Amino acid sequence: MSVIKKLTQASHLIDMTDIIREGNPTLRAVAKDVALPLTDEDIVLGEKMLQFLKNSQDPVAAEKMSLRPGVGLAAPQLDISKRIIAVLIPNPEDEEGNPPKEAYALAKVMYNPKIVAHSVQDAALADGEGCLSVDRTVEGLVIRHARVTVDYIDKDGQKQRIKLKGYNAIVVQHEIDHTNGVMFYDRINPENPMAAPEGLLIIE
Ligand SMILES: [Zn+2]
Repeated sequence: MSVIKKLTQASHLIDMTDIIREGNPTLRAVAKDVALPLTDEDIVLGEKMLQFLKNSQDPVAAEKMSLRPGVGLAAPQLDISKRIIAVLIPNPEDEEGNPPKEAYALAKVMYNPKIVAHSVQDAALADGEGCLSVDRTVEGLVIRHARVTVDYIDKDGQKQRIKLKGYNAIVVQHEIDHTNGVMFYDRINPENPMAAPEGLLIIE
């Protein structure tokens, strides 16, 4: 059975055993565009990817399924070399620990996502980045665009354009990189991992 057939079976829940790790050549391949109109299989895969992220962020489900928490997943990480990404970015609780009005700052499956414009200014997360396909800590500033405009096809097959900044922009760029065979540590300065170029926006 093909990987996509297995992962899109009704009873299948994506877990860490479905995620390939660094060293697997699929993570270094440039993924193929998803054919349009979207197939049911590609739509279901997107739903399964989003469900994985939801489970990974739910302490009970994550413990039961032994999931590392994640905010993004790209199809190549499942050994499927297609341009599909899912992002699920929760909003923080308020200062009193109440749940946010809107649960998520960003919750989307994007088919054929493409950065069509970006800021001159770069940004990096203060604490660096991690990846479900990388079972080690790699320290350093991951230099990305501070703001991006992304075109993509949504789960209903509609063309969409979204402007992103801050943490959302970082996560989406990390996932789009996976569809181009790029790992987050490729964007860390190897000579001086913590070196901040002038004008760099540090996101806490
Ligand atoms: Zn990753």
